[in-house]
Amino acid sequence: MEGLTNRWENLSKVMEAALRVLTKYPLCDRCLGRLFARLGRGLDNADRGRAIKTLLLMFLTEIQLSEDELKNLTTSIRLSLPAESKLQLDRTGTCYICGTKLDEIILELGEEALKLLRGEQREFSSFLVGVEAGSMYEKRELEVIGVLGLDTWESIRREVKRLVGKYISKELSIPPSFSNPDILVVLNLESREVSIKTFPLLLRGRYVKTGRFISQMPWFRKDGTRKYKLSVYETCRSVLEIFGGKNLVLHAAGREDADARVLGDGRPVVIEVKDPIRRSLPSTYPPEINLSSEPWTHVIIHGKTTREYVRAIKTRPTKKTYRIVAIVPEGLSEEDVFKVLSLSNRVIYQRTPTRVLSRRKDVVRRKRVYEVRVNLVSKYLLEALIKVDGGLYVKELVDGDNGRTTPSFSEVIGKHIKVVMLDVLSSFQP
Ligand SMILES: [Zn+2]
Repeated sequence: MEGLTNRWENLSKVMEAALRVLTKYPLCDRCLGRLFARLGRGLDNADRGRAIKTLLLMFLTEIQLSEDELKNLTTSIRLSLPAESKLQLDRTGTCYICGTKLDEIILELGEEALKLLRGEQREFSSFLVGVEAGSMYEKRELEVIGVLGLDTWESIRREVKRLVGKYISKELSIPPSFSNPDILVVLNLESREVSIKTFPLLLRGRYVKTGRFISQMPWFRKDGTRKYKLSVYETCRSVLEIFGGKNLVLHAAGREDADARVLGDGRPVVIEVKDPIRRSLPSTYPPEINLSSEPWTHVIIHGKTTREYVRAIKTRPTKKTYRIVAIVPEGLSEEDVFKVLSLSNRVIYQRTPTRVLSRRKDVVRRKRVYEVRVNLVSKYLLEALIKVDGGLYVKELVDGDNGRTTPSFSEVIGKHIKVVMLDVLSSFQP
């Protein structure tokens, strides 16, 4: 029975705390109940508050209170005195926290939110409710909590979010989503205004570049002219015709040089569509969308995704397979080929390449070459398949970048060698 005794002690703690609060502040049922929101799952805060007030009334004659405290308490819970038999709970009194307006506020905000959502032109299938911080209700609530001395309360913002969310969910038959909502309903408790914001649509896909001299993002020279005619980003922009929306952000798992092709499965990307009108993918399976405005860039969308995936493609280590064609003016021997093959399974130390030093910090990268396969096309021309850690600069692995990359093809054969063609054949996350 010891456990039971403990629980009764907890009950008396709750009643003491309620008494402490109510002898100081008049509170409506809902605001009182919210102070004990963690007790009794599934109850509405207004029911909790009313139950506590009722219990206090039942034991009023046994509670030792000074005259002042009794006066305050009766004001707080709006007791009609003197005749005990006529004790009445009057819920029309003015609540210190909400001015006894909270029920009305919740109802009004819920109706307004519903009206806006029903008139919303943009497609959505999940939502999240937010309440703007910093209202006077919150400030008064914090003051009351200071007197409470128990950690059982729920904030007014949370209660309003919860109740309005439940109402919307029921009326529109759509689920709330806390991790990946389509739409955000923002409530203001004081002005009683409701506004709606849409979350971006995140699409995962891959891009392939079958042409060279195509940059990932549009690239302009200082005089405003274009350095490359095409960019992957501009190919992606045709998603706006499908989903509507004002703008997009392209998140890619790394970037190749503009003169490199990206073949095979292509490079993983996420297209973030800002303020989309539509969100449904084609009903085909898999729901693929192929974007290409000309023959040289292709973006294939495989489905919707989340922010976590964006972080993952940007940070997870990758392995890549490249095909290079390089020229050796001095000519190559069979022995040179064996020396190049010996770079398989070696660790490469690579300082930031000279050609990108103006944009990137000068650091030493430690990357592995897993495999090198070589085909001697002619005495002066070598073709190689190279499998390496993502983030290794392949052109410099070949030409050595004046010793900044070591070992390199150039270093092991002791000859000048220069990449003339580079293709990304595959990119995968092990
Ligand atoms: Zn209240």
